[in-house]
Amino acid sequence: MKRLSTEEMAEKKRLREDSVKNFIKSDKRRGSFLAAIPKGFQWLFYQVYAGKIKSPTKAIRAKCIDCSCWQRDEVEKCMAVTCPLYDFRPYQEKDKPFKQDTPLEETKDL
Ligand code: SF4
Repeated sequence: MKRLSTEEMAEKKRLREDSVKNFIKSDKRRGSFLAAIPKGFQWLFYQVYAGKIKSPTKAIRAKCIDCSCWQRDEVEKCMAVTCPLYDFRPYQEKDKPFKQDTPLEETKDL
């Protein structure tokens, strides 16, 4: 994947912020919610609301992060095993990369 220059990253960020702002102005039902959530999650919710996703993965991430009061650690520690999204929630232990000091023998069955 091509690495973006600082200017390209700034432009991408500006375009994303404009998309979110335009959505907030244009969608009365979801716009006020989108405006009120933490900025770091607005792009994720915008993508879901605007139909920019091709699978439910981001929608599940959005629901879980909302459910956990915007705390990723709380999604990871979620104990609501009866929730239909439980097995699909993001930030699970299995998603973490191996620890650097894990001996190779301990990783072969994983
Ligand atoms: S899996 Fe846990 S964090 Fe995700 S929606 Fe269900 S209860 Fe909330």
